[in-house]
Amino acid sequence: MQKQYDYIIAGAGCAGMSLLMRMVADPFFASKKILVVDADTKQQNDRTWCFWETQPDLFESIVHHKWNKLDFYSDHYSSELSINPYTYKMIRGIDFYNYVKNNASSSPNVEWRKASIKKLVDTTFEFVGTNEIAGIELADGEIIYADYVFCSILFEPIKTAAHEYHFLQHFKGWEIKTAIDCFDSSKAIFMDFRVSQKHGTTFMYVLPTSANTALIEYTLFTEELLEDDSYNVALRKYISEQLQIIDYEVLHEEKGVIPMTTKKFPYAKGGNIYIGIAGGQAKASSGYAFKYIQKRTAALIDAIKNGKNLSYGKKLKDSKGHLYDAVLLNVLHNRKMPGDKIFAAIFKGNKASNVLAFLDNESSLLIDLKIMNSVPTRIFLPAALEELM
Ligand SMILES: Cc1cc2nc3c(=O)[nH]c(=O)nc-3n(C[C@H](O)[C@H](O)[C@H](O)COP(=O)(O)OP(=O)(O)OC[C@H]3O[C@@H](n4cnc5c(N)ncnc54)[C@H](O)[C@@H]3O)c2cc1C
Repeated sequence: MQKQYDYIIAGAGCAGMSLLMRMVADPFFASKKILVVDADTKQQNDRTWCFWETQPDLFESIVHHKWNKLDFYSDHYSSELSINPYTYKMIRGIDFYNYVKNNASSSPNVEWRKASIKKLVDTTFEFVGTNEIAGIELADGEIIYADYVFCSILFEPIKTAAHEYHFLQHFKGWEIKTAIDCFDSSKAIFMDFRVSQKHGTTFMYVLPTSANTALIEYTLFTEELLEDDSYNVALRKYISEQLQIIDYEVLHEEKGVIPMTTKKFPYAKGGNIYIGIAGGQAKASSGYAFKYIQKRTAALIDAIKNGKNLSYGKKLKDSKGHLYDAVLLNVLHNRKMPGDKIFAAIFKGNKASNVLAFLDNESSLLIDLKIMNSVPTRIFLPAALEELM
């Protein structure tokens, strides 16, 4: 077998394009042959990413809106959250895809293929010279080889083992335009749990982008999806009853399902390196993935440039975060405490910026202990012991 490319990016969504952007922005990769393969041409505004950070990163120029103030609401505790030094940011999917495509278009070493990938070629024991080689097989049977394949494709539904949890973060969002000015665009609602909790952990978030436009999302952390119309009913009710908005139009709708699972995803197999959700980058207790994807792709670039082994990279902080996620999902799965009460207790007992660091797996042990101390020990300690065994 012959290598045709240095790198193949299999799946050009958030993770694939984040990695590509980092490659085209770095002269180290100018001489490398890169093939990007996706079944889709990414021309839809199919998702909106929100995340928090302290410093601008690679995508700062396409941040659509940002907020320094966030509100938290629940029946048990409500407050404005002090998130300094973080800023909460929003990037629209379509801006992200176009930005990366535009940047890559001036790199002659990047080739795009619109094709469906059937599977990765298992090349664990194949070598060219002293290097391992990796590959993809397209739906039409063509096989393409490279030194490394960076794959963000989930080829089959996620299957969990008996001791693993698999929740779904599912949501529908409406971008609305109101007839009169209703919003303060300097402030967003991070979580509003003042909605029915009958299906499980359920909240709304409200992201105003101007005085009369906002993205409002109805979000649930449960093990089953709802009937489509249930999301519409909940959004209508919240907008009219909680936000007291009567006259509005829906400009855009987005819907999604993000796995919240304690399943251990593979990091790498031979030269096939997993990134994005397929590489376990969605935080199991929150569904946030954008920042984890940025950290992982930046770490991969560093590893390639410095000749480090790409199969490794999981830090102690990630293993610690995995345990905390498992404990939370244990409590939710076994219905030991409802999610709205857990999040209310955590935000009530801690500085919001510490909670954000915790959700990023970036908090110190001292902060972790404070956060654990803010939820009932009689519920969380037995769950932690179960997860440790
Ligand atoms: C609507 C929505 C909103 C979200 N909002 C947030 C948010 O606010 N904050 C946050 O942190 N996370 C959010 N997420 C979670 C996460 O950030 C996204 O799901 C993110 O897109 C995951 O990146 P990825 O690269 O793993 O997957 P994707 O972005 O889905 O990329 C996978 C790519 O693989 C391609 N592909 C799939 N199968 C094949 C195949 N067989 N052959 C070829 N190509 C294939 C797809 O076309 C796609 O382009 C959201 C997710 C959704 C769905």
